[in-house]
Amino acid sequence: MISAPAFSTFFPPRRTLMGPGPSDISPQVLAAQSKPTIGHLDPLFIKMMDELKSLLQYAFQTTNPMTLAVSAPGSAGMETCFVNLVEPGDTVIVCRNGVFGERMRQNVERIGATAVVVDDPWGQPVSAAKVEQALQQNPQAKFVALVHAETSTGVCSDVQTIAAIARQYDCLSIVDAVTSLGGIELRVDDWGIDAIYSGSQKCLSCVPGLSPVSFSPRAVQKIQDRSHPVQSWFLDQSLVMGYWSGDGKRSYHHTAPVNGLYALHESLRLLAEEGLENAWARHRQQHRDLATGLTKLGIEFIVDEQYRLPQLNAVTIPEGVDDAKVRSRLLNEFNLEIGAGLGDLAGKAWRIGLMGYAARKENVALCLQALNQVLR
Ligand SMILES: *Cc1c(COP(=O)(O)O)cnc(C)c1O
Repeated sequence: MISAPAFSTFFPPRRTLMGPGPSDISPQVLAAQSKPTIGHLDPLFIKMMDELKSLLQYAFQTTNPMTLAVSAPGSAGMETCFVNLVEPGDTVIVCRNGVFGERMRQNVERIGATAVVVDDPWGQPVSAAKVEQALQQNPQAKFVALVHAETSTGVCSDVQTIAAIARQYDCLSIVDAVTSLGGIELRVDDWGIDAIYSGSQKCLSCVPGLSPVSFSPRAVQKIQDRSHPVQSWFLDQSLVMGYWSGDGKRSYHHTAPVNGLYALHESLRLLAEEGLENAWARHRQQHRDLATGLTKLGIEFIVDEQYRLPQLNAVTIPEGVDDAKVRSRLLNEFNLEIGAGLGDLAGKAWRIGLMGYAARKENVALCLQALNQVLR
């Protein structure tokens, strides 16, 4: 016998989460998560899933019937889009201006497809002109993939323009909206986006581990016309859809994360109650207040003002300041988490998140006061 370890119950501290995600979760969403678990094919649960779908359509601003939450984190949403749409031998234009564009490239290559990478420097948006040039040079390309809100650098790219260019060249667009959904303007139907994925734990301020996705009718057609079966059984949308729709006779695919979906339902319900445009405005306002305060502390932004994401503020660590020490003091003395730099920006930047429920006055005040004290 291996003897039983005797641990006490885990009690996490109450932190303020102002990093790149997970973000602060509203008490209502946490309460929703602890409601009684019911069967995932219980008629009342199915009714809740139908509401969840409508709420996701609102958040994405789409009427796409194929809109649902993948039972796994944002990275699985990314993989869902790529493995369902892209087939071996296809060519995909992949825009890379940070960590997540590079992950898209890896997804494409693992499928056995070809990634034509359009590189832009870290801290700058994807260049629409370069994308168009790549499309001219690669007439065989079938997809354009890009990240709307690059969490590694705090840059917003012009998805509306690039998705329109993709259409002109008869390509489908695949968009990463993990950090953008609920935080900045995003209109899936008006912008003509074909496949999009997000995450529960950023501007939706829900528990981590769920990934909203949506596919346009063109994308659904593409999936139906595949000549190879999707290599991932779990992520194959043609199977998953029998579970999320199925008109009265849903079939078992996998056991839904029942309580996580309660939480997502509540977080999206709160977003709908506030109104998308009000949520976007709130993120902008809190960002402006934070930016004013940071400037007073002599802290500079990495990204030009016009491309900055309100929900992810990437700033340069001031000269002579010990990155790890500051972040650990913020955590231990103020219960405040901010993000470290990622990839090329490791050790050079902090990433201060104002995502969802974290985008509020108290958080901005706490962050500025704590930084002021620790840096002094
Ligand atoms: C966080 C993030 C992801 C990955 O989401 P996980 O839930 O961590 O798997 C993908 N893309 C972007 C832009 C992100 O910020």
